[in-house]
Amino acid sequence: MAILIIDDVQVTRKIISSFLKDGGYTDIIQAESAENAFHILGLYAESDGSRPSIDLILMDIVLQGVDGIEACRLIKNDQRSAHIPIVIITAYTSSEHIETAFKAGAIDFLPKPINKLELHARVRSILHFKSEVDRLREREKNLVETTLKLERANVLLERLSNSDGLTGIPNRRYFDYMFKKLLASGIRLAIPISLLLMDIDNFKLYNDTYGHLAGDDCLKLISGAIHDTIKRESDFIARYGGEEFVIVLFGVEAKTAADLAENIREHIFGLKISHSTSSVSDWVTVSIGVVSCIPEPSVSPEKMIDRADKALYAAKSHGKNQVVRFELAGD
Ligand code: GH3
Ligand code: MG
Ligand code: MG
Repeated sequence: MAILIIDDVQVTRKIISSFLKDGGYTDIIQAESAENAFHILGLYAESDGSRPSIDLILMDIVLQGVDGIEACRLIKNDQRSAHIPIVIITAYTSSEHIETAFKAGAIDFLPKPINKLELHARVRSILHFKSEVDRLREREKNLVETTLKLERANVLLERLSNSDGLTGIPNRRYFDYMFKKLLASGIRLAIPISLLLMDIDNFKLYNDTYGHLAGDDCLKLISGAIHDTIKRESDFIARYGGEEFVIVLFGVEAKTAADLAENIREHIFGLKISHSTSSVSDWVTVSIGVVSCIPEPSVSPEKMIDRADKALYAAKSHGKNQVVRFELAGD
């Protein structure tokens, strides 16, 4: 518990210091002026540096240079020292003087000449009060830190619960949420919207031939290939489930959507991932069902998914490894 005495009369500093020592307070720092005290408190320093931690200031009201009231105000206005309680020591005990001291930020005052027992009692209660305040402040700080940690964890959790663990792209849950929002915007702004439903051909056979882990690697390659083809930020890619992926294209014509689907199919075919047991090719292939429309209020997410699913089914029944596009009327 460090106490700073600010008094321009050396004898007074000595008396206060020895009184404090009699009361068991040994960590005492003396300053002969306000300016000197500001240095000790580190108020002139650029950084926090290695200034001593002061728990209480006992200060004369009349000082040469910056006087006690002004010094009190400056110490209280600086966030590095604002928390330190200040007791004004004064021979002027008129209510006007005391009121000025309190207004400047002093917590208490002691009349001169100083009474040793009174000094001990005041110092004890103020230091006790300060340690309680410090404890509460520390608790508040810990609480803020814990809240921040919790918020960060929640953001991470949210990201995890929205993304697919294998490929890292958005999962079905997030697709359901986003597609609803995108479709609503499309309806409001009368912007064309397309849904691409993509399914890997003969993927069960792929797993049977190369093993489930190789199947996982293949899914990752394919998700990367979709990303490499679809570059616009407004387009949305997700893993729909199993070996199915879904892509939402916002604001592109139906023809462009079908061209993009064809690009994705070709890109994946171009990866030349061996599939010796496929009924379609020596390489892994995909089928894509595309549905496009300028959505009207009657168009629901379910309706678009159903049409895309039917287009995908048609692509499969026509021999796989192809894109089939359906238009969706706003009926
Ligand atoms: P089709 O050409 O008609 O689409 O036939 P398919 O074999 O691709 O379709 P089917 O629905 O019969 O099989 C899908 C396979 O996808 C079966 C399942 O084990 C596999 N699969 C689904 N999810 C994963 C996964 O996360 N990892 C791996 N390795 N395989 C998966
Ligand atoms: Mg499937
Ligand atoms: Mg399949």
